[in-house]
Amino acid sequence: MKSSVWIEEIFEDFCGVKFKVERTLFSGKSEFQTVDVVETKGHGKMLLNDGLIMVTERDEFVYHDMISHVPLFVHPNPKSVLIIGGGDGGTAREVLRHSGLERIVQVEIDEMVVNACKEHIPSTACSYDNSKLELVIGDGVKFVKETKEKFDIILVDSTDPIGPAAPLFGPEFYKDIDNILSDDGIVVSQGESPFLLESVQKSMLKVLSEQFKVVKIYNFNNLTYPGGLWSFTFASKGLHPIQDFDPKRVDQSGLEFKYYNKELHTGTFAIPTFQQKNLEGLLKD
Ligand code: SAM
Repeated sequence: MKSSVWIEEIFEDFCGVKFKVERTLFSGKSEFQTVDVVETKGHGKMLLNDGLIMVTERDEFVYHDMISHVPLFVHPNPKSVLIIGGGDGGTAREVLRHSGLERIVQVEIDEMVVNACKEHIPSTACSYDNSKLELVIGDGVKFVKETKEKFDIILVDSTDPIGPAAPLFGPEFYKDIDNILSDDGIVVSQGESPFLLESVQKSMLKVLSEQFKVVKIYNFNNLTYPGGLWSFTFASKGLHPIQDFDPKRVDQSGLEFKYYNKELHTGTFAIPTFQQKNLEGLLKD
């Protein structure tokens, strides 16, 4: 019988997801994490950091549409964007589709992730040569503390709160984010699973609600992260993700999306009752 190779992501020893792998394209160990790119049977190429699934070609559009286009269509006139993490390049690719932007800075701690994706997943890592994008290889925590620049939108496209990503979920980091956001700035962050990581969602929302005027969470469905349903947090100095959203701007942009659309923009902020209860008192208008 022909043996087959499967890759598994196990969540806390009680559940997980499993994918059939055709071959390994890259395997490395950086100063920060292990980095693997594999070709799967059903999901195209897949990036894993420390064995955790980051992106697959089949469903990366969901995550990258939703982290980028939601805040970019709420802010009335965004000019500058800071991306923290996002080494696979998918977030930068989507951000760069907004032609009114003048400057995009991306701070990724691990050059190995960028290089592995440039070589093996060019469908996401296709914008690193764009002259509007400045890639900084460094720690996002240090960058937000030290930079003198202000940004209209900050996107925290991070791994889970482990290792170098742990401070990206803490109060100190969001104080620094607040300092470098322009007066009508928005920060959107990878917000984990409503089913499996309720405690992380709670602590993130607590941190954000102590710092920002408007704090919301929005959900999307994905095919590869354990639990299916996943979230982004939205926090701002005043802009409201629905009241300040003008659906006409989506039409006028002329952009087409595979997941995001103007109807979904509003609907995505309607969260299930169990999540509302878990986050009671932590969301702010
Ligand atoms: N969509 C993904 C997910 O949630 O599974 C996130 C993808 S992206 C690959 C996450 C990136 O964050 C990784 O490449 C990792 O190296 C980077 N990262 C982690 N901690 C960081 C830090 N302190 N500063 C900058 N980048 C960081």
